[in-house]
Amino acid sequence: MDIHEYQAKELLKRFGVNVPRGGIAYSPEQAVYRSHELSGGKCVVKAQIHSGARGKAGGVRICSTDDEIADAASWMLGRKLVTHQTGPAGKLVSRLYIEEATDIAQEIYLAFVMDRTEERVVVVASAQGGMEIEDISESEPDSIIRSVVDPAVGMQAFQAREIAFQLDLDPALIAQATKTIIGCYRLMEEMDASMVEVNPLVVTSAGEIVALDAKLSFDDNALFRRPEISEFRDKSQEDARETYAEDRGLNYIGLEGEIGCIVNGAGLAMATLDMIKMAGGEPANFLDVGGGASPDRVLMSFKAVLNDPNVEAILVNIFAGINRCDWIAEGVIRAVQELDLSIPLVVRLSGTNVEEGRALINDSGLDITTADTLAAAAEKVVGAWKSGRSQNGEAV
Ligand code: GDP
Ligand code: MN
Repeated sequence: MDIHEYQAKELLKRFGVNVPRGGIAYSPEQAVYRSHELSGGKCVVKAQIHSGARGKAGGVRICSTDDEIADAASWMLGRKLVTHQTGPAGKLVSRLYIEEATDIAQEIYLAFVMDRTEERVVVVASAQGGMEIEDISESEPDSIIRSVVDPAVGMQAFQAREIAFQLDLDPALIAQATKTIIGCYRLMEEMDASMVEVNPLVVTSAGEIVALDAKLSFDDNALFRRPEISEFRDKSQEDARETYAEDRGLNYIGLEGEIGCIVNGAGLAMATLDMIKMAGGEPANFLDVGGGASPDRVLMSFKAVLNDPNVEAILVNIFAGINRCDWIAEGVIRAVQELDLSIPLVVRLSGTNVEEGRALINDSGLDITTADTLAAAAEKVVGAWKSGRSQNGEAV
């Protein structure tokens, strides 16, 4: 789960990291009011969306007067900002963060990520902050510092100091930098964050180290024990399809294609996506219905898949161990009837009670295509999708 910049800064502050003073605003008037609550001098109007690179999209504006603040705020509020992280649909700005402007002497990149190869938290830092890390690794690869944290002892002061020295910081700033690095690490560990990215971490002209931007992601599987982090959830920033499925306890990931998938088991679901691509189609989603799926759960899965307007065909692929093919078949039949399904549907059943399941589908008299193997099922669903498209005169 991602959170907003202002929420991330609230957490960072609690862990001893300096952040600029600021306040939230939902309207241009409130934005102006907030700026007066601060120093009353220059301020920065920042669109709060779950994405980086807002600056390039117009979502970060330094303002000197009330009129500028109100203009920036009314331009941003209600607008969908498109960045390379949001996808073409963009993300809706419905709140702003108004901050005291900071005089920047130096911009640093600092991030803490889970490195799956190391199986540890890795600190990634660069004295070339401000740019996206992808651009830094492209243009200044030698500037990137990596430091692996030993989980048994956590981030140690000497290690944080070493990073600070490698960033070529003024010796007078080393103590502050060390405190900042350790604070970020403690936040990551104690709050179950999966990523902490501060870009830029700045040195101000007054010689202070301040987190000017902050992006935090949290491990969804740990949210049950972090209720205060769950409170930060903003569903309006999430993929609506995923929110719908998640609220119903389904394991669903939205993708860009047209073939909806209902599968049991994460591994089989991944293999199904591969097979669809090999057959020349694009999957619309990953969905694992899980073990012991009741007809109700199958029906709910259909609703989740059909919630995506891009879906033009559906593949159900079940290898039943704990599941029962007759239950799955019952759910499929109910879905076709209750939801008035009009797009091609291919069902492949295998395993427990397969004969009963197939008989139910064959006797239903419904327009459901069956297949014996995953490869055949993928071929059939992609074939049906393509012929549906060419009948409608659309490109395939
Ligand atoms: P992002 O584009 O979503 O990463 O948003 P940031 O918060 O990182 O802001 C983008 C850029 O705007 C930063 O890298 C800074 O260069 C600049 N910026 C943001 N806040 C301030 C500020 O208070 N003072 C100055 N001078 N520049 C700022
Ligand atoms: Mn940034």
